[in-house]
Amino acid sequence: MFFRKRKRRLLPSNGEQVGLREFLLDVYGRLYRHFGPRHWWPADTPFEVIVGAILTQQVSWGNVEKAINNLKERQYLSVAGILALSHEELGLLIRPTRYFNQKAQRLKDVCRVIREEFGDDVDAFLKEETGALRNRLLKVRGVGKETADSILLYAAGRPVFVIDSYTHRILQRLGRAHGRETYDELQCLFESHLPRDVTLFSEYHALLVALGHHTCLKSRPQCSGCPLAGVCVYQARLAAGATRAEASNDVPGAIAGRRSGRVPTG
Ligand code: SF4
Repeated sequence: MFFRKRKRRLLPSNGEQVGLREFLLDVYGRLYRHFGPRHWWPADTPFEVIVGAILTQQVSWGNVEKAINNLKERQYLSVAGILALSHEELGLLIRPTRYFNQKAQRLKDVCRVIREEFGDDVDAFLKEETGALRNRLLKVRGVGKETADSILLYAAGRPVFVIDSYTHRILQRLGRAHGRETYDELQCLFESHLPRDVTLFSEYHALLVALGHHTCLKSRPQCSGCPLAGVCVYQARLAAGATRAEASNDVPGAIAGRRSGRVPTG
């Protein structure tokens, strides 16, 4: 007897797409009503966003603020200012952030690109076509996709969804990811199911950060006060008597990983 091998379905069906869009918008609405507007990214200029996005890697925002204030108070928060400092001097000013030696190098490398190719003109740098600007940022050693996309969204105003570890954890607990998806797959999930709107993407990412930071904690999520409790698989499993380990198991058919590849950004 022959069995016809079923083709793996890579794209969600129309029904799933509509369902997922509604789900993602429902999650957004619940978070927005709970936390209110986050006014993210907290910065006075696009250049400050660039600096903050690099400094915030693996450190709390409070420490980033201290480092940015050090640069601001001494009037070094500019391309010219950062390039005028020696590596050691810059490292001392941004010392409150971890890995300040590597971060000093990254800041200088980005500033060098802006100087050498755009004559210190940050606006011209940020006006580059989205894909070209992203590639340019990713070529700087130590600048990854999350940092590059944060700069694209919050400094350049491009409709690019930023993915971080909070996003991954929350989606997994909601039953929409299995935890092994790539950055691009999760980004595609949001970008292909939501209106490509800078305000929506900016607010949505900030709200997920707020939930991940305050409520959906890694080891002990605070489900009783969570605005997503009504739509969360993890919470439903706990309520049904599962242990935390059991509640964390994959949801069969979590659909985030079914589609791969990056949706071109505008
Ligand atoms: S209900 Fe609990 S597990 Fe689910 S998103 Fe909220 S805090 Fe996280």
